[in-house]
Amino acid sequence: MATQAELQKLAKEHGTPLFVVDHEELRRNYAAFRKHLPRVQAYYAVKANPDPEIIRTLFNAGASFDVASMPEFKLVHQHIKNLPAKERQDWIWDKIIYANPIKDEETLRQLDRYKALVTFDNAEEIEKIKRYAPHSGLALRLKVPNTGAMVELSSKCGAAPGEAVDLILAADRAGLTVDGISFHVGSQTTNFENFVQAINLAANVYQEVKDRGYHKMNLLDIGGGFPAPYDATVRPFAELARTINAELDRLFPKEVEILAEPGRFLVATAGTSVCRIIGKAVRDGKLCYYIDDGVYNTFSGVIFDHCHYRIESFKKGRKEICTVFGPTCDALDVISMAEQLPTTLERGDLVFSRNIGAYSIASATHFNGFDPAKVAHLHQ
Ligand SMILES: *Cc1c(COP(=O)(O)O)cnc(C)c1O
Repeated sequence: MATQAELQKLAKEHGTPLFVVDHEELRRNYAAFRKHLPRVQAYYAVKANPDPEIIRTLFNAGASFDVASMPEFKLVHQHIKNLPAKERQDWIWDKIIYANPIKDEETLRQLDRYKALVTFDNAEEIEKIKRYAPHSGLALRLKVPNTGAMVELSSKCGAAPGEAVDLILAADRAGLTVDGISFHVGSQTTNFENFVQAINLAANVYQEVKDRGYHKMNLLDIGGGFPAPYDATVRPFAELARTINAELDRLFPKEVEILAEPGRFLVATAGTSVCRIIGKAVRDGKLCYYIDDGVYNTFSGVIFDHCHYRIESFKKGRKEICTVFGPTCDALDVISMAEQLPTTLERGDLVFSRNIGAYSIASATHFNGFDPAKVAHLHQ
């Protein structure tokens, strides 16, 4: 994790607002994922943070990638030429899953020549894939409980367990190949039971499809949702991994290939925001700090990701509960209504926020004329 001295040095060098990526931390998170889930290949979900340098570091560490649009596909594809020759033959499935169940026609047309693995969850999509990307491999996206996840992902995607078997058989009748099943338990899932239920639901569908005479599936994609350690209430990843490994080994024979799509888990702790205080006021008796980054930029996760980020100061001093506002004129631009900060901070002082690598700068805008933060790379 970037030290306070490193953050201050980088802010001096690059100015603020600054978004610092610690590549050592990226490599550490990837290694931890692989160590605790040895059966599972990690396909980094690019949407969590599409910074090209993050993709490069994870690619070099051996990661694969979950993409959900053609621009994301291209971000990953440019690295394929760096693979050793013998790995380049099978790169597409080894390196990329196109995990957006809804794809427009042009995307499918472009994907077809790669013979990629794509997800689907409805009959209309089977028709589209058949017509525009018939050489794809398919994974059925299953709807699973998202109970207690910070971000719910099952209302928009996923076939109900009752429809899943029929959809797989319908894709087969259409002349397509369904290679397996995927799901997503919801982002930042601290309720480990979601994974247990989802793996069991997938195993049931697997079995029923077999019973009905379809034998081509040999892949299970357990999706994303692995929680980042935002605070002490998040139980250790090793504990979740033990639960997952036990269910996988109990329900899926060794020859079934298991993949996952971690986004947040790999990048959240690798990103730190450094900002500057640009204004200070007392409103209704409460001290308010205005900083040069806000919810339209790096702190967009406050809105889109339902995430709370702690703001810390480099300076020490007597603290009280303050409000922290972003720089735009919009009243929505509130980073926090309750941060413990020294009352003595002054205009020009720096503050920082850790664990902000996922779903933050990825959804930054140019609203009100404020550009997204500059990105600096540490330990690359
Ligand atoms: C967003 C997303 C992910 C990543 O989820 P995390 O909770 O960040 O791990 C993985 N797979 C799919 C299909 C997604 O939409």
